Amino acid sequence: PFHKSKGQHILKNPLLVDSIVEKAGIQPTDVILEIGPGTGNLTKKLLEAGKMVFAVEIDPRMVQELERRFQATPFSSRLKVIQGDVLKTELPYFDICVANIPYQISSPLVFKLLLNHQRRFRCAVIMFQREFAMRLVAQPGDNLYCRLSVNTQLYARVSHLLKVGRKNFRPPPKVDSSVVRIELRKPGPKVEMKEWDGLTRICFTRKNRTLGSIFKQKNVISVLEKNYKTLQALKSSQILSSDSDLIPWNSEVEHTMAMETDVEMDDVSDDEMEEDRYAEEAPSAFKDKVLNVLKEGNYEDKRSSKLSIEEFLHLLSLFNKGGIHFT
Ligand code: SAM
Repeated sequence: PFHKSKGQHILKNPLLVDSIVEKAGIQPTDVILEIGPGTGNLTKKLLEAGKMVFAVEIDPRMVQELERRFQATPFSSRLKVIQGDVLKTELPYFDICVANIPYQISSPLVFKLLLNHQRRFRCAVIMFQREFAMRLVAQPGDNLYCRLSVNTQLYARVSHLLKVGRKNFRPPPKVDSSVVRIELRKPGPKVEMKEWDGLTRICFTRKNRTLGSIFKQKNVISVLEKNYKTLQALKSSQILSSDSDLIPWNSEVEHTMAMETDVEMDDVSDDEMEEDRYAEEAPSAFKDKVLNVLKEGNYEDKRSSKLSIEEFLHLLSLFNKGGIHFT
């Protein structure tokens, strides 16, 4: 009866459901967003703990089952089931999000919560595939530290709450899971997102290489030089009145950031890479300009795998100050 393609793995251990609800720290006045309520095991506990539950469920059969389960109970007036794909649904106001989600939507969902929403919710407590969870919480120097880690932690404090073995689900998924808490930072980061995305994308193509060697590459230098020239041309034609304005996040960046967070190449050995792509750019004034910024901040010999978010932000500000842009 369960759809694999919809990631339908039902939580069957009631103690675990209790523990998730307890760790979420729900107040009796809270409006709760649940994503993928399924048959409603978690939903019921959320209704007991909070004031109101909005539950977004894609599968009409599950929606029907939920409605049947709670109709004619005291809960029915406090539960609103929204049928649809959470990624395409405009989210209602909520204080807290609690969810056991289908893992295929993990990355876009995290970024939808972090970026699209009016940023008013207190926290999100979500079950993820174990490795995804470990990437979310990874710190500089940890094995799984990656673009997903820095992009998420730029917006939120993330903590690991609970390890959950696969046997707690019916049917059991192929991998273990973890429950993670995500709390938005307030105020949010003061950084132009396209710039941040552009920088971290380059830095994490090979997170264990030195930044010096990454920024010597032909393709990197040529992209940066193109940006540089475009900006100079725009400036001289007065189209740009001010380049210091913060440009708000736009959906194009959000899309690419959400979809590609895990594409990193550290498992590939050097000789497997195309020679040309990693070839060094010939000496040039522009190349020196870029490398000088790295030297100025002492970043030449550093590696992304060990850089903190503060250091990436600092590096970005140094590049921008030198007129080097990532968009
Ligand atoms: N919450 C239930 C539980 O813990 O037992 C079920 C969790 S199950 C892992 C995921 C649920 O999300 C399924 O009911 C599935 O139909 C639903 N779902 C899958 N994709 C979805 C989407 N894009 N938007 C909303 N719900 C979705």
